[in-house]
Amino acid sequence: MKTQEQNKILPADGYIKFQCKHTHAVWNSEALPVTAAFMARFEEADAFRTEVFDQGFIGIYENGIGYGNLSFRYGENFVITASATGGARELGIDGYTFVNKVELSQNTVHSLGPLPASSETMSHAGVYLESPLANYVLHIHNNLLFNILKEKNALSTSANIAYGTVEMAEAIRTIVKRNLSEAIIVMHGHEEGILIYGMSLAHLKSQLVFLCQEAKNELCAQCKKGGHNG
Ligand SMILES: [Zn+2]
Repeated sequence: MKTQEQNKILPADGYIKFQCKHTHAVWNSEALPVTAAFMARFEEADAFRTEVFDQGFIGIYENGIGYGNLSFRYGENFVITASATGGARELGIDGYTFVNKVELSQNTVHSLGPLPASSETMSHAGVYLESPLANYVLHIHNNLLFNILKEKNALSTSANIAYGTVEMAEAIRTIVKRNLSEAIIVMHGHEEGILIYGMSLAHLKSQLVFLCQEAKNELCAQCKKGGHNG
């Protein structure tokens, strides 16, 4: 779904705004052991990420900044796509990082893995900190859906809250508190940014199908309008 216009200012992304306490570690090593059950869950999530990439909801802008990220719960913690991975269609386990602690009051993320955690880790943390039911969080970018959701007064974080900040995590927590199992949130202060979370990957998939249908309806409505005028 390509909605990027020429010469427009691209959404800011990619710059890590929290204190990143990252320890380098290799997956399936003593520092970061994995079980067969974990790998099965990971592979399902990673395959989903590739689907989302193919839909254009995760990707890279012309300025080389990647966008879009995915995480899944791992016990009390979560695993998230690493920073600057938006441009890669297939990631594999080395494109993910284990987030073992998030201290909102200190604006600090502790992680362990081959690469530092996504610049949007704070937003994902907001969901996991607030809801024991949420198992997957997906952050996507899409201009058309961003505008549709704004127009429909979807759940949202306010325009003065930037991506990747403690303020964003707190605003998300406030929404999650009232919507423990699933929601779609439009991030007004983060151009094109949408956050989707749910209990299962199937949940997320169905929410994406719903969003794509909304986008198609909007495009059809625009076509019809164009038809009348033309
Ligand atoms: Zn973003």
